[in-house]
Amino acid sequence: MELGLVSYFDTLPRDSIYSIPSSLKVKRLDGRYIVANTDTGGWVAVTEEILPLVFSRQTQLSEELYRRGLYLCDGVPIFNHSHPAYEGLYLFEFSVTPDCNLSCVYCANQRAGTNGQSKATPELGELFINRVVEYIQTRQVKTNLTIEFTGGEPLLNFPVIKHTIDYAKDIWAPLNLPPIDFSIVTNGTLVDDELIALILEYGAETVGISVSVDGTAMVHNVQRRFPSAKGSFDKAVTNLRRLQSAGIPVTGTISVVTSHSQTELAAMARSLIELGFRQFLFSPAAPIGRAAGSLLVLRFRNKPTMIKRRAGVLCKSSDTDVPNADCTCE
Ligand code: SF4
Repeated sequence: MELGLVSYFDTLPRDSIYSIPSSLKVKRLDGRYIVANTDTGGWVAVTEEILPLVFSRQTQLSEELYRRGLYLCDGVPIFNHSHPAYEGLYLFEFSVTPDCNLSCVYCANQRAGTNGQSKATPELGELFINRVVEYIQTRQVKTNLTIEFTGGEPLLNFPVIKHTIDYAKDIWAPLNLPPIDFSIVTNGTLVDDELIALILEYGAETVGISVSVDGTAMVHNVQRRFPSAKGSFDKAVTNLRRLQSAGIPVTGTISVVTSHSQTELAAMARSLIELGFRQFLFSPAAPIGRAAGSLLVLRFRNKPTMIKRRAGVLCKSSDTDVPNADCTCE
């Protein structure tokens, strides 16, 4: 997003109440400069000519830079939930069941409730969609929206996923709402013909699927197991191939990293690429649920940074995730 000069601000007094926080960082990218405030998440992309102005506290730009989360006003930043790119919430998560057929070592909900009594109903699916519609109409949200189905293992409640998608698609068009798509986050062990038919019916760009794979077979089978302690890698990968063979792209995944797997990051990355993933996130096991108080949780300081660095995806000269203007190790 280019930063434009806003003529309105030319009329403001020049003695500014705005200041520049130390959390403002710069990185050169594709001939432009990304200026980001690592406290607020606000950022702008500017040309080389505009860059000095961003740091000059010129009044013409200060209000705009404050509103974009870059400057402080009276020493206080704005947390830019109203960034033009995200006019309100855009991701709505619908947990359709806490149940799961796996028993992963780090499961946050400890594979809670395996008796089906807590499953969402079709009526709840409709209510969920109605609430989303209310929200975007009230807030006049204009960005694309995603409904994400999670669990537990969401495919244990596939009929409600299908009903909710069908219902949303039925009511969406006449209401003139921003585009909507859907995402199903699954452990990959329960993929069947019905799921594939649903995705093909609406198109993979409308109903996406994410299969959780913890990198290599060795790591995955230790971490992501059936209650019998059998690893789930073969099942997940067989189904991943099945989806890919049906023409359904499955290109992104999140791999959980524990104290046991933290030395395997390079091998995990290689394996994920071989499996066809093009985007993956190494996420440290959270100290909640089954992993609470467990030795599985990574113990070092600044975990995400170290993990990314071990995987070779982060600037080696930086101690944070912050873009570094002098970085040459992309
Ligand atoms: S797939 Fe694993 S982490 Fe996810 S809900 Fe099931 S047991 Fe928990």
